[in-house]
Amino acid sequence: MSATLAALVSELEPSWSIEIHERRDGLAQESSNAWNNAGTGHAALCELNYTPERADGSIDITKAVTINEQFEISRELWHHLGTHGRLPGGTGFLSTTPHMTFVRGEENVDYLRRRFETLRQHPLFSDLEFSTDPEQIAQWAPLLVADRDPDQAIAATRAAAGTDVDFGALASSMVTDSVERGARLHLESEVTKLKQRRDGTWRVTIRDRRWNGHLRARTVTARFVFIGAGGGALRLLQRSGIPEAKGFGGFPISGQFLRTTNPEIVAQHQAKVYGKADIGAPPMSVPHLDTRVVDGETALLFGPYAGWSMKFLKHGSWTDLLRSIRPGNIVPMLAVGAKNTSLVKYLVGEVTASDTARLRTLRAFMPTAHPRDWELITAGQRVQVIKKAKGKGGVLEFGTELVTSADGTISGLLGASPGASTAVATMLDLLERCFPERSAAWQPRLRQMMPSLGGGTWDESFELDQLVDETVGTER
Ligand SMILES: Cc1cc2nc3c(=O)[nH]c(=O)nc-3n(C[C@H](O)[C@H](O)[C@H](O)COP(=O)(O)OP(=O)(O)OC[C@H]3O[C@@H](n4cnc5c(N)ncnc54)[C@H](O)[C@@H]3O)c2cc1C
Repeated sequence: MSATLAALVSELEPSWSIEIHERRDGLAQESSNAWNNAGTGHAALCELNYTPERADGSIDITKAVTINEQFEISRELWHHLGTHGRLPGGTGFLSTTPHMTFVRGEENVDYLRRRFETLRQHPLFSDLEFSTDPEQIAQWAPLLVADRDPDQAIAATRAAAGTDVDFGALASSMVTDSVERGARLHLESEVTKLKQRRDGTWRVTIRDRRWNGHLRARTVTARFVFIGAGGGALRLLQRSGIPEAKGFGGFPISGQFLRTTNPEIVAQHQAKVYGKADIGAPPMSVPHLDTRVVDGETALLFGPYAGWSMKFLKHGSWTDLLRSIRPGNIVPMLAVGAKNTSLVKYLVGEVTASDTARLRTLRAFMPTAHPRDWELITAGQRVQVIKKAKGKGGVLEFGTELVTSADGTISGLLGASPGASTAVATMLDLLERCFPERSAAWQPRLRQMMPSLGGGTWDESFELDQLVDETVGTER
């Protein structure tokens, strides 16, 4: 998120001075790191949670269309940066990987068919394919069908133009470029306090972590602050004292994946295949079997399995959750705890799941899976947003939430999903909310960079494959 904002601001206002403070000793070591997320370029081509079923059985595709459009904006910015020499790490962060949805059982097959029929009428989804034929599905993804009970009803949809994204490599590349354009990057530099001064600017207190706890705090004065601290954002928003942050709480859920690098298995699967979430499972826990391309190496990932940790960052502290509790968010947090018993039950089941239970979930996707080929890895930490809701005490949100002060001098990002894929749309929203007086002047440049902004038509020359083929020649 911060890398995206720096890329945009350094282009729109090259004379502005940008400072990036990162508490770790390297870039993108938290949620954006390749192995800490699933690397799906979320464009609603395969995720069932973006197409809920209405009470009358029809399918609501509103959210799917929005996510798809937002992902297109991300692709356009990446294309702009890539073709203007602004991605020093190259464009190997992006690989074309078909996106599939796979379901089992008559009821789910019926839902997937109705979803397909509704979606394909929209121009953004007109290339979607659907099949209930095991032979066809085996051609798309052989591991889904091998050794499967032939009497089981199955169905799949496939979008050939899906993507796998190494968001960590992309973020590092964007920050490196911003630094080349004048931004200052400080590693092992942890923001601990934020205080607004009388003149409206912010005094940011920073702890230098290189001094091993021997505090060498310093302060920086900034006209505008973006708190793009991932799981660390809630605490900093609370510390800023802005009234808009009151009532927000966080609920941490960690993720685990099974990973295989066995070349024989990897060679048999080239897709991201999303299934259907279990009852009570949060939307981001939808199981999926994914091709991942990281540092030029291909692997398969299956998960996520939810885990429980009190930490808000993977490299955070066990006291994060406790320290986030404030008089203003205790009611929403308790209300969410009391109302989401199915989520709590689901989490307990996941945390106590044995290796055998995990293998069983994998085998529902890939019946031939053998434990010797798979290792369990711990991914990133998500902090789901809890916020006040009139008449309900509090609600648990699964999206992202920008919390911005009334004067527009500070903004922080909470939440996770769809996260990295729609970072560009989120940061454009931030620019509009925090710099309304500049918005009109920035529009022409933004539209040059991202032609489909503002309802413009999608320019074929910005096709993703072209970006991949021209600049890297990726072929798998
Ligand atoms: C298991 C999992 C799977 C996911 N899968 C996908 C997916 O397939 N597709 C997708 O689009 N999104 C996915 N996401 C979401 C996506 O990873 C996040 O939305 C995105 O990476 C968030 O980026 P960010 O910059 O906000 O946070 P981060 O990448 O976490 O960056 C925040 C940075 O701030 C630093 N920081 C924290 N506190 C401080 C402080 N006080 N001072 C200085 N620095 C600080 C951290 O060290 C970190 O480097 C997934 C997330 C998880 C956890």
